[in-house]
Amino acid sequence: MSAAAPTPGEELEFLGRLRLLLADGAFVSTYKFALLRAIADECVERAETLEALPIGIERLGERFVALYWRQAKPYGVGADGPTVVQGQLLQNTGAQAGVLKLVAEEQRSTPLLSELQRDARAWRKLKGSVAQVVKRMPLYKLQTVAGKKVEFLYPERPAEDHISLNPGVAWLFRKYHDLARDLIEVAWIRFIQVLPRNAQLLSQGRELGEFLFGAERKALARVAEVLHAHQGGRCFYCDRPILGAPHADHFIPWSRYPLDLGHNFVLSDAACNLDKRTWLPAAAHLSRWVERNLIAGRALQDAMMPAGMASHLPRTLAVAQWAYSADFASGAATWLGRTRRIEPARPECIMIVARGARSATEAPRRP
Ligand SMILES: [Zn+2]
Repeated sequence: MSAAAPTPGEELEFLGRLRLLLADGAFVSTYKFALLRAIADECVERAETLEALPIGIERLGERFVALYWRQAKPYGVGADGPTVVQGQLLQNTGAQAGVLKLVAEEQRSTPLLSELQRDARAWRKLKGSVAQVVKRMPLYKLQTVAGKKVEFLYPERPAEDHISLNPGVAWLFRKYHDLARDLIEVAWIRFIQVLPRNAQLLSQGRELGEFLFGAERKALARVAEVLHAHQGGRCFYCDRPILGAPHADHFIPWSRYPLDLGHNFVLSDAACNLDKRTWLPAAAHLSRWVERNLIAGRALQDAMMPAGMASHLPRTLAVAQWAYSADFASGAATWLGRTRRIEPARPECIMIVARGARSATEAPRRP
């Protein structure tokens, strides 16, 4: 028997509690934001369920590393401006948050996250250490607001290797992921902005939101090279030869969901890339994209890994499934081609991506 979907009243209560939790001034570090974000993202990247959803603590550790990887780097004026001060932004009211120290230490020898992930031993060590911090610090303190604990997300039971989201919570985080992400990012930015010891760094004017949550641009040029060979130099969307600089395009737009995984990229010309903007591509593009990933996904994955881009096909397709379902439910348009040709999201999109997701999980995978 499956659990019932939350009622509208329960949905509002969930959002209200989330908002209160984020507004609570008792946070001493940004860990709680990272934890909420990690949980919300995990719900989108797993299959939809109304049941309780277990999330391993090591998985949360991995997500923390990914979230803080950009943020642990020095913040300051870029190469084109005068460098006044460069340094790590403080993410704790006291001494710097431990996770940022652990991550920065690793970055001294391994600047690219994907490079670290390829070194199985070093990667296991870092995510394990970070998972221990997650367990010790925010995990069993998260749901306390104004001194009162309300376990609306998961029971806080120390000494387990996972948490188990309450039935309905994963479903709610999927439904309201856009909103949750915005609330979390705004609260996170504000926390960093008001710490007096960040004032000097922040006065240099680099855009804080982009620094904290923007796409990792470094790997994109090399991803574009891999895709250029695969697509024979043609644009994924209009199939014309790419004349100018090719763009590594996030098929599911970054603004919809920040998915920097290899299978989410296609190569496009500037015109299509700029025209597509924040739309999801229409059914015909979706069908070709799913097909490409099922057929050539492994080869692309192997080629992109040394280029600094990790891949995970089932997660990529779970995100696509989430995005297309949301757009279909809200009657949003999908993008057909340049000069703003659009059509309403079709039910077919959901079937295409569901079929792809099934095939991807059935296919043999590496452990
Ligand atoms: Zn094109």
